[in-house]
Amino acid sequence: MIAVSKTHAAERIIPLLEEGHRVFGESRVQEARAKWLPLRERFGGIELHLIGPLQTNKVREAVGIFDVIQTLDRQKLAEALKAEFVRCGSSRTILVQVNTGEEPQKAGVAPRNALSFIAWCRDELGLPVHGLMCIPPVGQPPAPHFALLKKIARDCDLPFLSMGMSDDFETAIRFGATHVRIGTAIFGARESARP
Ligand SMILES: *Cc1c(COP(=O)(O)O)cnc(C)c1O
Repeated sequence: MIAVSKTHAAERIIPLLEEGHRVFGESRVQEARAKWLPLRERFGGIELHLIGPLQTNKVREAVGIFDVIQTLDRQKLAEALKAEFVRCGSSRTILVQVNTGEEPQKAGVAPRNALSFIAWCRDELGLPVHGLMCIPPVGQPPAPHFALLKKIARDCDLPFLSMGMSDDFETAIRFGATHVRIGTAIFGARESARP
């Protein structure tokens, strides 16, 4: 379970760390850096996931703070990640985001392009792609989207499936989620309207 702590201050996160939870998700590189560099000094064994869009000019910073990058969705970003892994001599676990609903405003590779994109990332670039992530369209039953993600993961022989949020994680688990991303159900409502 990834506790999604975006928008919540360190004081809200510390009780979870004190209870022993170690896996967290953040949407923004800047915010994650400010909160998690100090928290990492106090608590060991933290696993931080980037679950929001990543700009290529933030790749170096993102690789410096995150253990898992869940939002790889384009060639230019794949190349930037590869270059940064070579430069710093270590890599991060990568998930490819799939836009299962093919929503124009949403990030992610289109399902029909997923197989070739994943193959290119793994075989041409040698990136450690370990799974897939999706965010189903708001207001639609999520099950078909989880089923589609599961199918693509199976076709590509990828073990990790990051799917399911506060409102639909039970369904996601039924469809084989290995990672659920839970914000509101743990921390309560976020104040800001931004995703
Ligand atoms: C904010 C966010 C979540 C958590 O959503 P909740 O509904 O608050 O559980 C999960 N995944 C992504 C990609 C998010 O941006």
